[in-house]
Amino acid sequence: RKMSSSLFEHPEKTSYINGAWVPASSGKLFECLNPANGNPIGSVPDMDSKDTEVALAAAAEAFKTWQKTTAKERGVILRKWYDILEQKKDTLAKIITLESGKPIAESLGEVAYGNAFVDWFSEESRRINGEIIQSPIKEKQMLFVKQPIGVVSLITPWNFPYAMITRKAGAALAAGCTCVIKPAEDTPITALALAYYAHQAGIPKGVLNVVTCDRSNAPQIGKTLSTSPIVAGLSFTGSTEVGKLLYQQCSTGVKRIGLELGGNAPFIVFENADLNMATDGAIALKFRNCGQTCISANRFLIHEAVFDKFINMFADKMKKLVVGDGSKPGVNVGPLTNKAQFTKVSRILADAKEKGAKIVCGGKPASHLGELFFEPTLITGITPGMACYSEEIFGPLAICIPFKTEDEAVTIANSTRRGLAGYFYTSDISQAWRVARDLEVGMVGINESLITSAEAAFGGIKESGLGREGSSHGIEEYVYIKYLCFGNL
Ligand code: ADP
Repeated sequence: RKMSSSLFEHPEKTSYINGAWVPASSGKLFECLNPANGNPIGSVPDMDSKDTEVALAAAAEAFKTWQKTTAKERGVILRKWYDILEQKKDTLAKIITLESGKPIAESLGEVAYGNAFVDWFSEESRRINGEIIQSPIKEKQMLFVKQPIGVVSLITPWNFPYAMITRKAGAALAAGCTCVIKPAEDTPITALALAYYAHQAGIPKGVLNVVTCDRSNAPQIGKTLSTSPIVAGLSFTGSTEVGKLLYQQCSTGVKRIGLELGGNAPFIVFENADLNMATDGAIALKFRNCGQTCISANRFLIHEAVFDKFINMFADKMKKLVVGDGSKPGVNVGPLTNKAQFTKVSRILADAKEKGAKIVCGGKPASHLGELFFEPTLITGITPGMACYSEEIFGPLAICIPFKTEDEAVTIANSTRRGLAGYFYTSDISQAWRVARDLEVGMVGINESLITSAEAAFGGIKESGLGREGSSHGIEEYVYIKYLCFGNL
């Protein structure tokens, strides 16, 4: 049971509040485990609402000065943070793989993606422009200026432990807000590493704070982060269930809220699609992060004329995937990140099998590799009564459903309360426009499965969330419009 503390530059067993490395006020710690082998990788403070109050007070104090910095000053500091994060990308990727289990190549990809937000928002800060309006009255001049909303709470998940923080904190800091981050219990060390380099970059004390806790304290910290009078807004990425709870809690104080919740992405392959391109896209989308992304394809809808061919090609490519410890070179699919995920995927597959689904390949845990590994699995014979038909699978289990017409495919695709991403493959340009318009989702991949970047507006509709992250719209979540009316001119 080897500790990997040499990777961690920040002082051990502490979190980062008000520019200092501090233990939990209760003195409690909790252990982070490597999902590939169950070995402990480090201990972090198990903080509670009391620590959260301290962090919020620090953020409130820091807001007094941070909000008055110029956009350029904030941009320069964010850029320094970006430069350090780029220098440290290998270390950061190793930490991500240790905590989350994702293959090292994907962790490097996440660092690049995460850093792109810091880079992007370091520039966007200077483009938070206001407006001067044509006044209807001669003696009046009307202006809109944009101001930071204040202290924001950022609650993040374990599937992108790095990029989900930079996507939020980059925008918040660029806007002039200060923040308290609560990372997921599976991946707090990644958050602490980000804070460590933020400090090195000269981000002033109190501007960025991290409150770590185990799952049992998440509800009380979540309550404080959504109801404290200090908090102006909350941004959350995670499950729909917790998102709804936070939305409710935020309503008591009418807080600004941004939610990036679960998806149930359709992946439609039309009769005229390039099947090689489509199956490559399907592999990338379904097995990235072991299927644990909210924009993963959840339902493969395949035109009946190409169904068998698609299944064969998809299964052949699936069999070539190397499952294993993500820190080993050449591995494509790591373990599921935690026991809850493993149990969920096992339950969804067992339910489908019981109700008559057919296994094309895979179909069981890869137990010889460790407790949390699962074989890339493809099933057909899906019926609407199966859990896999409606639930977000979040694992390496692909389900394929045949359809006859475009209308039928779109109807199935939209038959969910979720609406995050949707994908389809076609070579018919009219069909591309029609289907892109008709899919009830916030993001559409057309003959493309990898759609994210700092420049893209990420977000969902329906129960998948509120607001957009990344792009120039990402800043809007953290500013409000103040209308100024100069009179009696
Ligand atoms: P998942 O099911 O993928 O773990 P969650 O929504 O449960 O997704 O977790 C996302 C984040 O929400 C994590 O940081 C987790 O600790 C946090 N969280 C869980 N429960 C609560 C809660 N009641 N209030 C606030 N945050 C919570």
